[in-house]
Amino acid sequence: MKLLVVEDEEMLSKTLAKGLRMMGYAVDCAYDGEEALYLYGLNQYDLMILDLNLPKLDGMEVLRRIRSEDSSFRVLILSARNSLEDKVSGLDNGSNDYLTKPFEFKELEARIRSLLRRSFSTKDTVLRCGCLEMDTAARQVLCSGRAVELTRKEYSLLEYLFVHAGEMISAEELIEHGWDSEADLFSNSFRYHVHSLRKKLDAAGAQDYIVTQRGHGYRLRCPKEEQ
Ligand code: CA
Repeated sequence: MKLLVVEDEEMLSKTLAKGLRMMGYAVDCAYDGEEALYLYGLNQYDLMILDLNLPKLDGMEVLRRIRSEDSSFRVLILSARNSLEDKVSGLDNGSNDYLTKPFEFKELEARIRSLLRRSFSTKDTVLRCGCLEMDTAARQVLCSGRAVELTRKEYSLLEYLFVHAGEMISAEELIEHGWDSEADLFSNSFRYHVHSLRKKLDAAGAQDYIVTQRGHGYRLRCPKEEQ
């Protein structure tokens, strides 16, 4: 999952990006409203965290412009404006959630998870596929009840495949949602992570769950779909 953090305070932006990357998200940062819209137009994000007091273009205007094109894109406003009017106005203009500064990182993280879950077919925090279970709240993967130790990258790849279980996902799309846009990415690095994820799943007993179709991409195959 890839997030765009729009925040002009550099320290806060860095802290947010660091914390979110620790959670396994890919993160891009924009430091003003215009850059936010530019990056939003350029990349595919799963969610935007949006400050309101921004240089060049106010956050509320950024939100309005996004909403005029896309009614389903997820936006979480993170702002020091904590009056009731601001919250109401933010939600009226189409933000999906509103968190006021200062905030606890844990709360931000929980709200992000909840917003991202709304894109899943289920509201359940646990996703299932054959013998595999992915607990998106605990960020843990189990195979037949036993924990499978994954790196953050492997987890984030598997999470994206889980959310789109059964669909063929291109390598470009996986990279787009799993890596920061400015990451110095060699395709070998991507293949390495997929290879290593697949090896761990195989070893845990979820054999051949990730299907590769040369030239097309990857698909998470849940055994029941073939019964
Ligand atoms: Ca600000």
